[in-house]
Amino acid sequence: MMASSSGRSKQELPEDLSHIEFETSEDVEVIPTFDGMGLRQDLLRGIYAYGFEKPSAIQQRAIKPIIKGRDVISQAQSGTGKTATFSIGILQTIDTQIRETQVLILSPTRELAVQIQKVILALGDYMNVQCHACIGGTNLGEDIRKLDYGQHVVSGTPGRVFDMIKRRNLRTRSIKMLVLDEADEMLNKGFKEQIYDVYRYLPPFTQVVLVSATLPHEILEMTSKFMTDPIRILVKRDELTLEGIKQFFVAVEREEWKFDTLCDLYDTLTITQAVIFCNTKRKVDWLTEKMREANFTVSSMHGDMPQKERDAIMKEFRSGQTRVLITTDVWARGIDVQQVSLVINYDLPNNRELYIHRIGRSGRFGRKGVAINFVKNDDIRILRDIEQYYSTQIDEMPMNVADLI
Ligand code: ADP
Repeated sequence: MMASSSGRSKQELPEDLSHIEFETSEDVEVIPTFDGMGLRQDLLRGIYAYGFEKPSAIQQRAIKPIIKGRDVISQAQSGTGKTATFSIGILQTIDTQIRETQVLILSPTRELAVQIQKVILALGDYMNVQCHACIGGTNLGEDIRKLDYGQHVVSGTPGRVFDMIKRRNLRTRSIKMLVLDEADEMLNKGFKEQIYDVYRYLPPFTQVVLVSATLPHEILEMTSKFMTDPIRILVKRDELTLEGIKQFFVAVEREEWKFDTLCDLYDTLTITQAVIFCNTKRKVDWLTEKMREANFTVSSMHGDMPQKERDAIMKEFRSGQTRVLITTDVWARGIDVQQVSLVINYDLPNNRELYIHRIGRSGRFGRKGVAINFVKNDDIRILRDIEQYYSTQIDEMPMNVADLI
């Protein structure tokens, strides 16, 4: 559930997210309250109305440098409030008196771009802010109309955004900040060229903010090419997995045995909400079909579905109407559904970063989470590598796993 008009639970959170350790630049100030950040009153009101009381660790450190106009590289564990960090920074920075695009946020998936737009609109509820989600798979004319009307902030995916820039419907002359969410993914092979295409159209000296739970060394190295003396807020590798997310494996030995294992777990899946990851779209379709044949209720989503269908599935899952979602890595990064408490890796992910992002779909903002990895004989090596790399513990799944959710 995204925080919305329905309000949010203010239960005691098991993990205090204000005391996470960072490897930060020396001059980073820690501001323990929203009141102490010098924010505009209408924004502050929006923050409290949204249900936030106290800033998380990343918010205490990164909001101020963003407002000051510094280039910022901000890393924090999944679900600890990075989106709100840059959203608050953006809202404080924009001038709502001029209706021109001043901030551009780029994300790897359409669902994430829309989620960010919603957060900005919610936090900026008392500010009269215009924020548009500029994503592929939607009506071009509608996009053009919205942009022509004037948008302070655009949250989009690179393809459609670039298209709109080239057509001059998205005018870039007043843009002063570029945010790359899931920055390591955006600067990876698949997206890098597209990001660069957009970047070339931005005014010189545009502030750049990079955000992700994972920022591998090779990505950090290349930031010097387009960032100026950035403030870095980084998490040590061995602190990247959250205490609140328990990780397990089930030794299924062979591929054929995964399906029965999943069926056995179905009751556990539906305790709250669960996301099941497969490595290909075909496998998602296959598994969905097979689960339904066996009379289990599941929903599924991947990038080959029409956007309308993707939207409908997201809506149902966010509202809790559906409880089990089978999907690909299109869902691995950034998506925030607070009720998800279980993640299953039906297939192990193809890299270490994706592992962190996938399991981070559960355990949002200090909630409890469980991740279960199905491992074939020849996967055990990969799992041990992940375990070692992040200095974390992945035990064999206990019988009482349902009690941990
Ligand atoms: P990240 O981008 O780090 O994965 P999000 O920004 O999506 O995390 O935040 C995760 C969840 O925590 C969201 O539901 C968000 O509304 C909530 N959240 C963020 N900051 C706060 C806060 N200061 N107080 C309470 N809840 C928060």
